[in-house]
Amino acid sequence: MACYHANGPGEVDIMTLEMKTRCEKCGDALSQDGSAYICSYECTFCPKCAAAMKSVCPNCGGELVPRPSRTT
Ligand SMILES: [Zn+2]
Ligand SMILES: [Zn+2]
Repeated sequence: MACYHANGPGEVDIMTLEMKTRCEKCGDALSQDGSAYICSYECTFCPKCAAAMKSVCPNCGGELVPRPSRTT
């Protein structure tokens, strides 16, 4: 399931149960075909925030990796 948010009070986002379309940090929209970074719990961030956080998920401490495209 989705990463358990530990951002503190007031930061809970109920919408994140669905496919992530926004960066969890800055709220930027993530295009389906654009680049995004996820951790193993599917916390999702834009490339800018992933780089700023040195590819470490602030929610769970996991490594952020480029989200794979739909093509396999
Ligand atoms: Zn961001
Ligand atoms: Zn995470």
